[in-house]
Amino acid sequence: ILEIVGLHKSYEGNTVLRGIDLRVRTGQLICVIGPSGSGKSTMLRCCNRLEEPSAGQIVVDGVDIMHARTDLNAVRQQIGMVFQQFNLYPHLSVLGNVMLALKKVQKHSHAEAEARARRALEQVGMLEKAAAYPGQLSGGQQQRVGIARGIALQPKVMLFDEPTSALDPELVGSVLQVMRQLREAGMTMLVVTHEMAFARAAADRVVFMDGGVIVEEGPPEQIFGDPQQARTKAFVARYA
Ligand code: ATP
Ligand code: MG
Repeated sequence: ILEIVGLHKSYEGNTVLRGIDLRVRTGQLICVIGPSGSGKSTMLRCCNRLEEPSAGQIVVDGVDIMHARTDLNAVRQQIGMVFQQFNLYPHLSVLGNVMLALKKVQKHSHAEAEARARRALEQVGMLEKAAAYPGQLSGGQQQRVGIARGIALQPKVMLFDEPTSALDPELVGSVLQVMRQLREAGMTMLVVTHEMAFARAAADRVVFMDGGVIVEEGPPEQIFGDPQQARTKAFVARYA
């Protein structure tokens, strides 16, 4: 459903992505791991054109979103993104945060937006906090609201960029649990993470990136149990 073909990205002569090819099938959860600076965030940001690729194609459900006439608003409704920082609006309630794009971008009526927002909050276990404000929630709860905001738009793919790395350790589990449930509900997900245990247990495939290329990809048993590349071996050994 998401196809990345020959993706390159440079910033003023500094090449960050050197030809990424990656295919995410419907309903799969793909985890991306790799050292800091390897280009993981840049790759995700290119997928919904928060960054403009220097070369390559991003195809979502058969549509090349790199086309000049592509409506970026439409792209971002099909490809939801959750960041490390939750970026909730502090002056809006939980419900208000999740409803915002449903009303402003998808133009649902207030009643329809509220119904969709409540369903999304229910999915992440945050419905009882609908009236709370972000400042009254723990980091883990805020991140679950961030996920609800993404899934409420019913995207075809959800991208996650280190969704748990700003959280205290005891709050990480609840967010990972929500992601596992989403996977079970059939959501397609591309997840950059440093949570190796999560990648090992929940991913359909794991992608190891280093130096702007995919060094190795395969089922978690291969990447963590029997890596084929020396660089993969060295990286996962540090987490063993
Ligand atoms: P981390 O694990 O630390 O999040 P990452 O794998 O996500 O790392 P990226 O954020 O994609 O890495 O960055 C890859 C490289 O691109 C880095 O060397 C970074 O300095 C560079 N880079 C990222 N964004 C920009 C930018 N807007 N302008 C210039 N260089 C950038
Ligand atoms: Mg990053």
